[in-house]
Amino acid sequence: MSNTELHQLGVAELAAQLKSKEISAVEAAQHFLARAKQHKHLGAFVAIHEDTTLAQARAADALIAQGKGGRLAGVPIAHKDIFVTKDFPTTAASKMLKGYQSPFDATVVTKLTASGAVTLGKLNCDEFAMGGANENSAIAPVGFDAAQPVRNPWNIERVPGGSSGGSAAAVAARLAPAVTGTDTGGSIRQPASFCGITGIKPTYGRASRYGMIAFASSLDQAGPMGRSAEDCALLLSEMCGPDLDRDSTSLDVPAEDFTAQLNDSIEGLRIGVPAEFFGDGLSADVRAAVDASLKEYEKLGAKLVPITLPRTELSVPVYYILAPAEASSNLSRFDGVKFGHRAQKYADLNDMYKKTRAEGFGDEVKRRIMIGAYVLSEGYYDAYYLQAQRIRRMIADDFQTAFKDCDVIAGPAAPTTAWAIGGKSDPVSNYLADIFTLPASLAGLPGLSLPAGFGDAGMPVGLQLIGNYFSEGKLLNAAHRFQQATDFHLQRPAGI
Ligand code: GLN
Repeated sequence: MSNTELHQLGVAELAAQLKSKEISAVEAAQHFLARAKQHKHLGAFVAIHEDTTLAQARAADALIAQGKGGRLAGVPIAHKDIFVTKDFPTTAASKMLKGYQSPFDATVVTKLTASGAVTLGKLNCDEFAMGGANENSAIAPVGFDAAQPVRNPWNIERVPGGSSGGSAAAVAARLAPAVTGTDTGGSIRQPASFCGITGIKPTYGRASRYGMIAFASSLDQAGPMGRSAEDCALLLSEMCGPDLDRDSTSLDVPAEDFTAQLNDSIEGLRIGVPAEFFGDGLSADVRAAVDASLKEYEKLGAKLVPITLPRTELSVPVYYILAPAEASSNLSRFDGVKFGHRAQKYADLNDMYKKTRAEGFGDEVKRRIMIGAYVLSEGYYDAYYLQAQRIRRMIADDFQTAFKDCDVIAGPAAPTTAWAIGGKSDPVSNYLADIFTLPASLAGLPGLSLPAGFGDAGMPVGLQLIGNYFSEGKLLNAAHRFQQATDFHLQRPAGI
C-alpha cells in the first residue's frame, strides 16, 4: 500500500499493517496530520498538536517493536472536544472553556490510549453538544481566526449534522480512520447519517461518562464513528466497561468484544419497521433509500415486521424539556469561579456571575438554560418536568412492547439529508429534525446509523438500527452484513 492511499484503510486493516510493521505509527500519524492541514477548510479540528501526536506515535512504535501494544496500537484517532484530555486543550466548543487545560483524561480517552490509539487532535462540535448542525461552535477551528460552522465533505455548502459534526466530517473526509463522538439525542447517529459514515451509541451506562463534559447526564453517551460497522465494533470494544468509582451511572457489565458476532448469519432476523418513522415528515428521497435498504435486508434473509412506536412524536417535547432541565443544572458549574472564562469587570459577586455567563455562553446554550430553569421552577415543575418524565417512561415501555415482536428496529436516522448551512435558522425546526433519534435516547437504548445510499443532490442517507439493551453486538452484526453486501460505506466525497 502506497503512503498516499493510507487514509483509505479502515481501522482493522490499518491496525493489521501497523502490527506487521508494513507501516509505522509515526508514518500513519504524519499522513493524517498532513491531511487535516490539507482539508482545514472543513473546520473539523479545533486542536492539533503535532509534537504530542508524534510522541504518542513513537511510543506506539516502540511497543509494537517489542511485540506489545493493544488492539489499536498505532491507530490514529481524534476525539470530539467534549472529552477532556490532558495533552490537548478542551473547550466543548464554548468560549466559556477557551484555554481550559484538563489535568486528566476522560475514561474513554484513557481506554483508547491504553489500547494503543494515537490522538490526532480534538474535533469541533456544537457548543456543549447542543445542536444538530454544528453551526453552534464558538471556537475557531484550526486554520481560522473566528468560529465557523463545520462543513460537510459531500458538499461544503451543507451542514455535517451535529453535535458531533467535526467528528463525522473528519471520518468522511478521511482525516482520521475513526473518531469518538457523543450522543445525547442523536449526535452520533444524525451526523453519521449526514456524512455517509457509520456511528453507534451504546446502551446508556456502557461507556463511562467520566471526563465527558456533561450536557444532559441521564442521556449522554459516548460512542465511535467510523467508516464501517467493523471499525466501530473495534473501537466500541475498547471504549466500554464499568467505571463504577468514577461514574455513578456506569453499568457493572463487563467489556465485550463486539467484533465476535460480526459475521453471524442474519437469516430470520426480525426487523421491526415502525409506522411512525415513515409518516408525512419524511422526505421522499430518504424514504426511497431507506425502503431500498430494507429490501436489501430481506434479501439477506431478514424478515420485516410492522410495529408501532405510538409516542414517537412526543419524544421531541419530552426531550426538549428534560435535556434543557439537566443542562441548566449541569452548566451551573460554569460560574467564573472554578473553570474557564471570568468577566474582567464586575461590581460584585452576582454581577460577576451574570457577566461571566452572558459573555461565555452562546445563544443556543442560553436558550436551553432558560428553558431548563423554567421547567424546573416551582409552579411549572409538575406540569412540564414531571409530566415529561412520565412520558419518557412510556416511550421506554413502548420499545419493550415492540421488542416482543422483533429483534431490531429499523428506520431513517433523520427526516432529510443534510441541509444548507444557515438553512434552518429557527431553533424549533432544528429540534423537530431530531424526531427519529430521540426515542432511543430517551429509552437509553443502543442505536446505530449506517450509510444506506444517497438522496437528492447526492447527499448521503443513514439507516438507523435500534436494539434492545445490550444488543450492540447484534446491531453491529446486522450493519456489517449489510456492508458486506453493499458498498455505500466505501463511497467517498469527490476529491477525497
Ligand atoms: N440535536 C440534539 C440537541 O440539540 C441532540 C444533541 C446531542 O445528541 N448532543 O440537543
